[in-house]
Amino acid sequence: MHAMVLTAPRARLRMEERPDPIPGEGQIRVKISACGVCRTDLHVVDAELPNIRYPIVPGHEIIGRVDLVGPNVASHAAGDRVGIPWLGFTCGHCRFCRDGMENLCDSPMFTGYTRDGGYATHTVADARYAFPLGEAGNDVEMAPLLCAGLIGWRSLVLAGDAARLGLFGFGAAGHIIAQIAVWQGRSVYAFTRRGDGAAQGLARRLGAVWAGASDETPDEPLDAAIIYAPAGELVPAALRAVRKGGRVVCAGIHMTDIPSFPYDLLWEERQLVSVANLTRQDGFDFLKIARKAGVRTETTAFPLNQANEVLSMLRDGRILGAAVLTP
Ligand SMILES: [Zn+2]
Ligand SMILES: [Zn+2]
Repeated sequence: MHAMVLTAPRARLRMEERPDPIPGEGQIRVKISACGVCRTDLHVVDAELPNIRYPIVPGHEIIGRVDLVGPNVASHAAGDRVGIPWLGFTCGHCRFCRDGMENLCDSPMFTGYTRDGGYATHTVADARYAFPLGEAGNDVEMAPLLCAGLIGWRSLVLAGDAARLGLFGFGAAGHIIAQIAVWQGRSVYAFTRRGDGAAQGLARRLGAVWAGASDETPDEPLDAAIIYAPAGELVPAALRAVRKGGRVVCAGIHMTDIPSFPYDLLWEERQLVSVANLTRQDGFDFLKIARKAGVRTETTAFPLNQANEVLSMLRDGRILGAAVLTP
């Protein structure tokens, strides 16, 4: 197999040839056809997350087919099309796992972060965390659903029944969740980097009633806002945009420091919460609703050996929608 491997903080990924992995007890080996590039991959490469295990193969929006099944796997067979998300393993017995919050498990494993991911031709996954996908849909277009879509969905659920919803950052997650929110009958307000006409145009095409820069304020206050961009200064901006009792959801795994802000912005029962990871139930719920809502992703495909260049483009905001590697 071939893989793009990260060997040290902030290093360039290096193409390596490795022996094909053998799936262990309860595992499947998957031949990868598409792997989305998520902003979290940048946080891994930049060592902005703790406890990264080197060498590591990034990538956690994996679509492929099972090509070898380990012992004691009844759920999957060779040839099955699967999606492998960020959540790679949970312990099943900590208080969070027992209480239906496996996204907060005390000893989890994450694909492309603490176990090898999808910037590769093959990967091995715990069968219990690989979603069966069936045959509908295109591999490249579906890859971003596996994290941008799925964790985006969890953040939308956390935003409650807000009729007027702000999305700060309109990349992979924003453009997927906007479609679901519009389908649900909400009014979507898309906030982008100043001057990002491409992202604002995409937002309007997908049904947003308003698109502008993140330091602009729509006429009416929002019921809730979700922050997808990793910029701490968006927290006070989003709090400023929501009404009394409104909620701001931080959906990213990493954010630059939040600047201090006057208590007035939080006062009047505004709420500020974060989203961490996903549960498998989120995945089942989201994949069903994405089909119903007819979500179409805006993707650009790149060969696996261009992973470094794609990460640079993502860092500079030069990707419209989502980038996908095709091994
Ligand atoms: Zn646990
Ligand atoms: Zn992700």
